[in-house]
Amino acid sequence: MTILVTGGAGYIGSHTCVELLQKGYEVVIADNFVNSSMDVPERIARITGKMPKVFELDVADSHALDLVFAENHIGAVIHFAGLKAVGESCQIPLRYYRNNLDTTLTLLETMERHGCKKLVFSSSATVYGPKNECPYTEDMPTSATNPYGWTKVMIEQILRDYCAANPEFSAVLLRYFNPIGAHESGLLGDDPNGIPNNLMPYVARVAAGQLPRLTVFGDDYPTRDGSCLRDYLHVVDLAKGHLSALEYAASHTGAEAFNLGTGEGISVLELVHSFQEVNGVPVPFVIGGRRDGDLAEVYANPSRAREELHWTAEKTLDDMCRDSWHFIQTRKAER
Ligand code: NAD
Ligand code: UDP
Repeated sequence: MTILVTGGAGYIGSHTCVELLQKGYEVVIADNFVNSSMDVPERIARITGKMPKVFELDVADSHALDLVFAENHIGAVIHFAGLKAVGESCQIPLRYYRNNLDTTLTLLETMERHGCKKLVFSSSATVYGPKNECPYTEDMPTSATNPYGWTKVMIEQILRDYCAANPEFSAVLLRYFNPIGAHESGLLGDDPNGIPNNLMPYVARVAAGQLPRLTVFGDDYPTRDGSCLRDYLHVVDLAKGHLSALEYAASHTGAEAFNLGTGEGISVLELVHSFQEVNGVPVPFVIGGRRDGDLAEVYANPSRAREELHWTAEKTLDDMCRDSWHFIQTRKAER
């Protein structure tokens, strides 16, 4: 089967392409490379021995996307393409709503024209909003605290409405918790431009001497050590979750949401200590004030994914720390 992977050159998309190719799927990537590098497909090929087909296009460009479907027999789509920086989404909300909603609407219209009825969508734990209590379960009400989060809430709703009107359609809404880590080859990983916003890429760059120190955003939260808890999962485990979702979509219709997380909250300080211990490198840090909008704890109840997708996260926090460090060192050596 041929899978169209929108945003397939990005962090999670590239790891998912590797898993798909290794399982014998044909892969077609559609990406405009706004937040990824043109050499990613070739890196995917170095790992898998197979070069995915690549279309450089904006997924909101209906004409360009139409050609992809016309030239390839697409059996299902995994839709990663989107902008994802929470802070930036507050500064330029229209760009976020335009990009994330338009790509999805154009994709659905194009799939409809070509009779493609299976979609796996990158949603996020952010749709649980500020009011629900952890561990989050999929039946909780959704909301958001920033434009990025609202795009995910809105797209989930669009997909539910579309499935209600099209009973043969299958939309699997994967609510990711905090993916970190990198491919064990060191060839793929999270390599944001500029100063990272997210914890693990920041920690890795501090360890590599590219940034002087980490600021831990708050140690006065009501958690076991005062720093925030997040449900970190290895990006390769997350990538494998998409294959489980494709299998689920093959035999189910309707819009269904699944948490992809480990179910365990890890604190900022615990992550920093593990990174230092596993890799034998210092990560200088200072304690700073809280970051606006941060919740004290965010972690999943992952049982629905375990029972219905037959998926569980297998890799450990040590694996995540080791692979992130290996990736940044490989990157440094290449430059
Ligand atoms: P990423 O930025 O690395 O990948 C997204 C890819 O989409 C990039 O390659 C980018 O160039 C492409 N893209 C963006 N807009 C496009 C457009 N209009 N047309 C074509 N390509 C476009 O991000 P990621 O971390 O791999 O995240 C993938 C998806 O998962 C996103 O939708 C994101 O919101 C969601 N998600 C990510 C996380 C996380 O922590 N990384 C957590 C929850 C959800
Ligand atoms: N964090 C931090 N310093 C940083 C970046 C992040 O202390 O430089 C903390 C942040 O407050 C949060 C956790 O690390 O508690 C994870 O942050 P990230 O932005 O990676 O994920 P999110 O907050 O979106 O879950």
